[in-house]
Amino acid sequence: MKLSGITPSGHVQLGNYLGAIRTWAAEGGSGDMYFISDLHAMTTTHNPAKLRSLATEQLAILIAAGIPEETVCVQSDLAKELGALTWILECTCSYGEAARMIQFKEKADGQTGVRLSLLTYPVLMVADILLQGAAEVPVGEDQRQHVELARTLARRFNSTYGDVFTVPKAVTPVTGARVRDLSDPTRKMSKSTRDAAGVVFLLDEPDLVRRKIRRAVTDGDSVIAYEPETRPGLANLLDILAACTDSDPRDLVDAHATYGALKEAVADAVVETLRPLREKTTALLEDPAELTRVRKAGAARATERGEHRLQSALRLIGGC
Ligand code: AMP
Repeated sequence: MKLSGITPSGHVQLGNYLGAIRTWAAEGGSGDMYFISDLHAMTTTHNPAKLRSLATEQLAILIAAGIPEETVCVQSDLAKELGALTWILECTCSYGEAARMIQFKEKADGQTGVRLSLLTYPVLMVADILLQGAAEVPVGEDQRQHVELARTLARRFNSTYGDVFTVPKAVTPVTGARVRDLSDPTRKMSKSTRDAAGVVFLLDEPDLVRRKIRRAVTDGDSVIAYEPETRPGLANLLDILAACTDSDPRDLVDAHATYGALKEAVADAVVETLRPLREKTTALLEDPAELTRVRKAGAARATERGEHRLQSALRLIGGC
């Protein structure tokens, strides 16, 4: 079983959809799990009401995208189980192991009032993985170290107290397109970028999507070519068009005479790709009773799957 996560640290953007969510929906592995990691979004300054609404929006988007509802779960719905397991795992982890995490060092660097949770959140992530008994965790390079920590802690717990946890492994995610920021194509499109001009959000109005794409940074050349290294802005537009039309970016080079024509084609393709998703998401967001039902069912399934591991671990480590 595979566990994938998305953190509600901002509105879901086109890169999330083309790079991850669409693939998750296509995989649809019945035993897999897709986790909305809202607890992880509390490790730095956050707005509680905004976080709650972003988590709800993500849930609606994942369901609207066609991910089977029985595989989706919001992390804070398991707060009791995860809180307890995190404690057990913190008693299995050394301070040095937590402080060594690159993500912690990078995010804490130069900051004052760093939340203790920024140091301990990798252990919460380990709890997410181990509670569900996930064997595989698809992660990018930045999260590999945390999955290594999950392996270390699972092995250590199993050999010290008794065999409870599946030892997970990090796997390379099956990714769709990699989408770059439209205003600054040297960086990837991200839901937490401050300047939203280069980020297409899934729930943006079509007119706004078109405006953002028309303003995308390209280059001074006038010949269309696919050269990601030297002409990233143009390559990004071709990549997005290819992802939306299920084609190869190299085959699209000759189809458009000017940058303007290419941008119009990209805008049309993105608007049409997002239209059904936006409509379904909006309908779900207008039906809070349905979202609550989905959410509760997901939480019940995840609790049922993990409860026995938590109880065994608590008992073996000396509790209950
Ligand atoms: P994050 O937004 O970092 O929580 O990522 C959630 C998922 O979306 C992960 O699987 C990322 O790899 C994927 N993702 C995020 N941004 C992009 C992007 N610009 N292009 C492709 N995939 C992305």
